[in-house]
Amino acid sequence: MALLSVSDLHVSYGAIKAVKGISFEVNEGEIVTMIGANGAGKSSTMNTIAGLIKPESGQIEFDGQSIVGIKAHQIVDRGIALCPEGRRVFAQMTVDENLDMGGYLHTAQENEEELEVVYEHFPRLRERAGQVAGTLSGGEQQMLAMGRALMSRPKLLMLDEPSMGLAPILVEEIFDIIKQLNEHGTTILLVEQNASMALSIANRGYVLETGRIVKTGTGQDLLHDDDVRKAYLGG
Ligand code: ATP
Repeated sequence: MALLSVSDLHVSYGAIKAVKGISFEVNEGEIVTMIGANGAGKSSTMNTIAGLIKPESGQIEFDGQSIVGIKAHQIVDRGIALCPEGRRVFAQMTVDENLDMGGYLHTAQENEEELEVVYEHFPRLRERAGQVAGTLSGGEQQMLAMGRALMSRPKLLMLDEPSMGLAPILVEEIFDIIKQLNEHGTTILLVEQNASMALSIANRGYVLETGRIVKTGTGQDLLHDDDVRKAYLGG
C-alpha cells in the first residue's frame, strides 16, 4: 500500500483550473520528484496535500486514511510536513525559535530530542542557533525551513523548490542533505525546476504540464527520456 495516494485531484482558483485530475503515489522510503514548468500546478498540488487549499474534487489518502477536508495542523500531526516555496522562515525570530515553532505539537522533551537530530543534519544551524533568521543567507534559510519541517517528525516531507535561488554549490549541499534524510527513513516528495538534480536522486518522477501528469517513470528513465531532456534538461 502506498504511503500517499492521490487520485483524480482537481484544484481551482475561481475560474482558473490549476490541477486537472492528477493521480500519483508515493511509497514508503521513496524519493519522488515532480517536475514541470512554472505554473504547471506543482505547488498547488503540495499545498492541497498539506491542507492549505481545499481541492475541488479528488481523493488524498495518507497511511490508508483520507485526509481531504481535515485541518492543516491535523495533517502535520498525521505525519506530513511541508517545506514551502520561498522558505517563509520567521524573519524576526532566531534559528532556535523558528525550529521550536516546527515542533509546536510536541512536548518540550520531544522537541529537545528532535532539535538534536536537526542539528546533526544541519551543523550550520547549530552554529547560528541564536541568530535572527532574516539575517541568514539563502542557503541557510533553506536549511532552516527544512529543519523546521523536520521538527514535526514527518513520515513524509514535502519540499517545494528547495534549490530556488541558491548557488550551485549550495544546491548540491541541499540535495545531499535530502538524500541523507531519506536514508535515515524519511519519505520525500520533491517539487523542483532543477530537473536534472531532482531526477538524479529520485526513485520515481512525474512530469506535470498545465495541471496534468504527462509522463512518469523511474528517475533514471526520465533523465534519459528525449522529451524530458528537450523540455527540462536543456536538450
Ligand atoms: P511555480 O513553480 O511557478 O510555483 P507551479 O507548478 O508550482 O509553478 P502553481 O503555483 O501550482 O504552479 O500554479 C498553477 C496555476 O494556478 C498557475 O496558472 C497559477 O497562476 C495559478 N495559481 C496559483 N496560485 C493561485 C492563486 N492563489 N490564485 C489564482 N491562481 C493561482
